Amino acid sequence: MTPVLYIVVPCYNEEKVLPLTSPMFLKKLLDLASAGKISRDSRILFVNDGSKDGTWKLISSLSDLNPHFAGISLSRNRGHQNALLAGLMYAKDRADVTISIDCDGQDDINAMDQMIDAYLDGADIVYGVRSDRKTDTFFKRTTAQGFYKFLNLMGAEVVYNHADYRLMSARALREFAQFKEVNIFLRGMVPLVGFKSTSVYYERHERLAGKSHYPLKKMLALAFNGITSLSIKPIRIITGFGFLVAAISLVGIVWSVIMGILQSPTGGWASTVSIMCFLGGIQLLSLGVIGEYVGKIYLETKARPRFIISETTGEKPASGESTGESSGSAPEEKGE
Ligand code: UDP
Ligand code: MG
Repeated sequence: MTPVLYIVVPCYNEEKVLPLTSPMFLKKLLDLASAGKISRDSRILFVNDGSKDGTWKLISSLSDLNPHFAGISLSRNRGHQNALLAGLMYAKDRADVTISIDCDGQDDINAMDQMIDAYLDGADIVYGVRSDRKTDTFFKRTTAQGFYKFLNLMGAEVVYNHADYRLMSARALREFAQFKEVNIFLRGMVPLVGFKSTSVYYERHERLAGKSHYPLKKMLALAFNGITSLSIKPIRIITGFGFLVAAISLVGIVWSVIMGILQSPTGGWASTVSIMCFLGGIQLLSLGVIGEYVGKIYLETKARPRFIISETTGEKPASGESTGESSGSAPEEKGE
């Protein structure tokens, strides 16, 4: 039996680009179905992430026109990662396999053929990896590459140049559903699921319309969230630095004592004050980093829902489930 594929597409204020990319997604779905690789019950599932423009109206009319289109709408804007999670969690009960992709046409949809082939070959997770970034601006390319290097340096291991274009089987998603954390960074968490995984390479295009929602500020926030949700290496670095400073101070003390005995005490308040200021700064920074982790714990203990679905379109609810789905604190039906 051919698998049911759900292409999960998060959309935030994308009324400009959706009319261009939705026919491309549909064509790819129909081509894959005609090639006998996926079932004709497959769907393109748009996730409206609380858009303020006409995105949801557009999704609703697409799904009215063609049964291959479906949509869910979140009750408010929750950010790309939560929107994607909402779509994947919704799809996991309806599909055999999912592919997540951005709606702006930047990721080459032709890589889906190889992804599906890899799935049919037994892979549960297939990462879409950008083979080059020629079309990105110099700034975007450098910051994005710095982003991956910094993440790895800080102990958050991610697949290099892989964003959120990936195939996941329903089995991998069911296991992933047990990852209950509220601060999510999907590309760092998915490899933790394990199973057979592989990568396919594609060239990244330019956005077809509209503009990026990831300026430097948001990218830094994403990197920071990724690091703190995947690794405690920054705290270890602080501990290491503490040891280093303590060791240097010990040498300084011994040196001052020896100089004192030799009757030539070291003078100069400037050096003393600057060292104190430097250490004061480092201490504040360290407190900030530790505070960041404490804040994360605070948010995690609340375990608020990561998303709330307010509306759906073009889709029958999966068996035994209502459409007012929310996730996060809700207990999973699945046993441990
Ligand atoms: N997106 C979203 N919620 C947000 C911001 C972005 O669902 O709050 C979606 C957006 O519609 C797009 C994807 O996430 O499909 C990636 O965003 P974008 O293309 O702006 O990022 P970039 O490719 O420039 O990193
Ligand atoms: Mg984009």
